[in-house]
Amino acid sequence: MVSIDEINSFCKRKGLVFPSSEMYGGVAGIFDYGPVGVELKNNIKKEWWNSIVHSHDNVVGMDGSILTNSKVWEASGHVDNFVDLLVECKKCGAKLRADHLIEEILKKPTEGLSSKQLDEIISKNKIRCTECKKGELSSVSEFNLMFKTNIGPSGKEFAFLRPETAQLIFTQFKNIVEVSRMKLPFGIAQIGKAFRNEISPRNFLFRMREFEQMELEFFCHPKKKDECDLFDGVKDVSVNTLTAAEQENGAHKLSKKTISELYKSKLIKSKWHAYWIASRVKWYFDLGIRQENLRIREHVSKELSHYSASTWDIEYNYEFGWKELEGIADRTDFDLQQHAKVSKKDMAIHDEATGEKVVPHVVSEPSVGVDRAFLTFIIDAYNEEEVNGEKRIFLKLNPKLAPVKAAVFPLVNKEGMDKKAEEIYKELKKHFPTFYDDSGSIGRRYRRMDEIGTPFCITIDGQTMQDSTVTLRSRDTLEQQRVKVSELVTKINKTLCA
Ligand code: ATP
Repeated sequence: MVSIDEINSFCKRKGLVFPSSEMYGGVAGIFDYGPVGVELKNNIKKEWWNSIVHSHDNVVGMDGSILTNSKVWEASGHVDNFVDLLVECKKCGAKLRADHLIEEILKKPTEGLSSKQLDEIISKNKIRCTECKKGELSSVSEFNLMFKTNIGPSGKEFAFLRPETAQLIFTQFKNIVEVSRMKLPFGIAQIGKAFRNEISPRNFLFRMREFEQMELEFFCHPKKKDECDLFDGVKDVSVNTLTAAEQENGAHKLSKKTISELYKSKLIKSKWHAYWIASRVKWYFDLGIRQENLRIREHVSKELSHYSASTWDIEYNYEFGWKELEGIADRTDFDLQQHAKVSKKDMAIHDEATGEKVVPHVVSEPSVGVDRAFLTFIIDAYNEEEVNGEKRIFLKLNPKLAPVKAAVFPLVNKEGMDKKAEEIYKELKKHFPTFYDDSGSIGRRYRRMDEIGTPFCITIDGQTMQDSTVTLRSRDTLEQQRVKVSELVTKINKTLCA
């Protein structure tokens, strides 16, 4: 498997991602997206939005602010509880995340362990600082991950940069219900920036301090979590599974199960939760993530967040192990009740079907980082092979995600081929992102496009000038076929819409 460091330098080389403010030394955990990267990132967001909002009659979107009244975060519990556990090196002063340090050194999971338990493990195993390799470590303390900033000129008012997008959905819940006239069950979705002052950001885009999230809060009547009319459409989705019981028994072997089996055996506790887990898994599979690299893992009880009745993570098998790509929690009515309590505003809504007034439950909250998804799609699509004694790197991205869909090359810049190529390029560009390249050998031009995952390359040659056909070359099979210029748009569009 390609290493994270290789992916990092590949992304920089190809204009996908750069360290932010690099010319001044950069900032750990903060990145900028370049010309190619921004296209891929936007395509991921577009596919998510289509599958969550536009494909469901009962889901609407919103776009909340980054700065909010700090009471939001008091009510949600973030001011008190949004902490990671920190140890400090007594010699070099390095600050390290205690659970990650133990996982790295002892190769053991630490989910749900308290600061006292982590302290005990550190002293029992005589774990030292991994930076200076010598220093003794302080005892474990809590570190709140929220960034604080001032609002207005007085310097007295402050706000937090949001550490998740979800709370903005809860605080606008009543307004949205009113204006969109949504009836239970329904969802509210959002894509936007989130900020976490991670103790030790690492693994490139996996753990950042500024990132983007795509989140859906799906609300339903607390007694109707099993009334899901969409379930049959996903019941046969089959995925590698690791249940809480299997983890507690020390069994870490994966077995493939269908969503229907998981729901019937009550391993996934409600039908709506099962529906959203299946839909999200299917989304990754449909966009090309290899099935063997993905699994769903149930949270063990000590790991469950205080607000969650049940959580499943979609995990990817990264170079540094199986890690969370997306979390899908049943968040109960915790957040709406908290905001009702702190704001003293009624968060209950009228349920038309039963005539009751209820505070709905978030039966499912699929939440994924755009950047983590971006990294995962690239790792999974990254391929190296040897063609005619030369190394070929190609990103086997689903054409829907590919930053550029087609590239147009004149074989030579003479005999009218350049003019013809430009004409074709201009026409294709009206339909999908297309790139024009007339410099270097054709082989070189192909390689450049393969590296950024362009599914089609079109070459204009001498024959084009006679019969209006071009060669259409496929990134994945390297197959070249002769295609009429007039058929190019339809042919390429067919793949993009598949
Ligand atoms: P982790 O255990 O990896 O810190 P988390 O459980 O704190 O993640 P959530 O709060 O559930 O994460 O956030 C939802 C999603 O947001 C995650 O599944 C991940 O895709 C993304 N995410 C969270 N923190 C980061 C980060 N620091 N950098 C990039 N993406 C992140």
